Amino acid sequence: MSRMPKEHVPVDPVIVRRHSRRARRMTLKIDATAGVAELVVPPGVSKTEADRFERKHRRWAAKHLAQLPPRRPFVDGLALPVLDDILEVRHCQQAPRVARRVDDELIVGGRVDQIAARVETWLRETARETLLDRVSDYATRLGRTVSGIRIADPRTRWGSCSHAGTMSFSWRLVLAPEAVLNYVAAHECAHLEEMNHSRRFWKLVGVLEPGFEDARDWLADNGQTLHRYGG
Ligand SMILES: [Zn+2]
Repeated sequence: MSRMPKEHVPVDPVIVRRHSRRARRMTLKIDATAGVAELVVPPGVSKTEADRFERKHRRWAAKHLAQLPPRRPFVDGLALPVLDDILEVRHCQQAPRVARRVDDELIVGGRVDQIAARVETWLRETARETLLDRVSDYATRLGRTVSGIRIADPRTRWGSCSHAGTMSFSWRLVLAPEAVLNYVAAHECAHLEEMNHSRRFWKLVGVLEPGFEDARDWLADNGQTLHRYGG
């Protein structure tokens, strides 16, 4: 039986330092997309203090970086989960450059070094279409209209809704099961009525998307894997 090779375990974790004027205290965070740890340094902290903090938490960083799910770069042959399907990324130099889906394949033409960018463009478009469809549906049920959505790649959240009703979502949600994308869309739409996470809010999410709890748990358990795709 062949086994997937284990990812290289960094003995020396890569810790990137970022000075932040807004930060109140030093924090060490794992950036799953980049595969590094980030040390956020607030104003007034000396280099010596930051060095000491980093030394103290090196093992923690190494352990968490080693536990990250394997990377899945967008290359020819990759099995790409898209909502509830698995598509195979296929590079055909002669095919049109813009990625397009044909049955269970995602066909990308042009140069090899452009495959990743073209696959991501396709995923972002698919995310926009699918999320806009779901958001429109939930908003209509709430007697609201949503003019548009923003598709981004935030590191720590899957979606957001501003007081003005502007919604933003991670394109990586198309890599999750469809029920998970639906849950996040319902969650943000429920914020059009309840700008909080009160019981009334969660009840409303349940009205829009009954049984959403499994999707919420899936995201908590597996969300990090979505950040390992691409590049
Ligand atoms: Zn929320």
